[in-house]
Amino acid sequence: GEVATMMDVPITKVIGTCMSLGIMVTMNQRLDAETLTIVADEFGYEVEFITTDLEEAIEIVEDRQEDLVTRAPIVTVMGHVDHGKTSLLDNIRKENVIAGESGGITQHIGAYAVQLDNGQKITFLDTPGHEAFTAMRARGAQVTDIAIIVIAADDDIMPQTKEAISHAQAAGVPMIFAINKVDKPHANPEKIKEKLAAMNLLVEDWGGKYQSHDISAKMGMGVKELLEKVLLEAELLDLKANPNKPAVGTVVEAQLDKGRGYVSTILVQSGTLRVGDYVLAGKNHGKVKAMYDERGNSVKEAGPSTPMSILGLDGAPTAGDKFNVFEDEREAKQIAVKRTQLMREQSVRTQRHITLAEIGRRIALGQFKELNIILKGDVDGSVEALSNSFSKLSTEEIQINIIHKGVGAITETDVMLASASDAIIIGFNVRPAGNARQLADKEEIDIRNYSIIYDAIDDLKDAMEGMLSPEM
Ligand code: GDP
Repeated sequence: GEVATMMDVPITKVIGTCMSLGIMVTMNQRLDAETLTIVADEFGYEVEFITTDLEEAIEIVEDRQEDLVTRAPIVTVMGHVDHGKTSLLDNIRKENVIAGESGGITQHIGAYAVQLDNGQKITFLDTPGHEAFTAMRARGAQVTDIAIIVIAADDDIMPQTKEAISHAQAAGVPMIFAINKVDKPHANPEKIKEKLAAMNLLVEDWGGKYQSHDISAKMGMGVKELLEKVLLEAELLDLKANPNKPAVGTVVEAQLDKGRGYVSTILVQSGTLRVGDYVLAGKNHGKVKAMYDERGNSVKEAGPSTPMSILGLDGAPTAGDKFNVFEDEREAKQIAVKRTQLMREQSVRTQRHITLAEIGRRIALGQFKELNIILKGDVDGSVEALSNSFSKLSTEEIQINIIHKGVGAITETDVMLASASDAIIIGFNVRPAGNARQLADKEEIDIRNYSIIYDAIDDLKDAMEGMLSPEM
């Protein structure tokens, strides 16, 4: 309604345009920035976005170069089930006790920091697996700097290994391979490296760019060297943050604790968080009453890359929610209330993600340069055939990226990856499994099912030319 008034065109015309884009709206509905741009363009207007709302209170000030200091890398461990993710994280937790600290890490708070002999620190997210990693990304939070991909040397590159690799790549997060269980008699690390090479992932020993290290998480062999490689990778990434400003970061997990109230594990990404600060996290807020590190020590302040559990919020924010510190308590409360309202409105929100039917239109408007596809099929042969054919459809205007392909049903993890990477999912002789369909509806992910290769290729071709009619 507002947009129609601003452009001085009838509301019905705006609604009609939205419908032709495959977006069903009412006159009171909020449109997202992308839709607004497309709709305005349709009527010959260009949209300029000016923030006048309260979120503006969350200042984004660019840090000055001289204020930046090196921060610890934040690492996630991923890999196939039973390949040793938990064992690796446990080993690191037990072996690396910060000098002068008595005892190891006793609390599970969702993340922990370790200090190596040379004094350098690494922060680990203690929720292993690409599911948690991508769920955070789908909420707009990318906290991981480096992914360790654990692969058991007595096994193979398994489906979840491939997924973990695709998820890290889709996020643009550098990978280090930990070839695990080398203590086992049938371990064959070279075979794993060969298999990686066949996937175009050449490790250093093989003349490639990926660091890898043979380890035994169980025996603690090679873990120290693996961590040194993590630090090397971190050095290349030149990770920096400004500690001298109010803290900004992400919620890792939160729960209600009997007696202590809501306990939230947060990761400070820049700035410094102090006890007494007024925090807004997602739609929750409150004054930080106390902070504890992973050893249960009470802490007064926490700088960049530090995980902390904090007390004092009025509820449990969601993993992946951003947090900010406010000087003005009232302002934080207002934004919290507004966010709650917005979330209610957004349950009837417009399409956030790309659909096959919308591709041609977006290409024509010149705003759409890359199409991400997740491809699942019943047999390897058809997955490869489709993947090759799809990639060949790339044109000068649009690049087609197969961000993940695999054999098997479409899973909830595939849907989350699609949501985090704005992808469509194409299934060949496979269907969504479990709650994947429901999740796709909720996340507004386009899933297309085919049983004839040419139909899939033709549809994509038509879609790119803007010839595909919306699926009703
Ligand atoms: P996750 O599912 O990836 O977290 O795997 P876990 O860490 O739970 O490990 C699965 C199984 O493999 C457990 O029984 C571990 O004891 C075993 N395991 C893990 N790492 C090693 C290793 O380096 N050597 C051997 N022999 N066993 C290991």
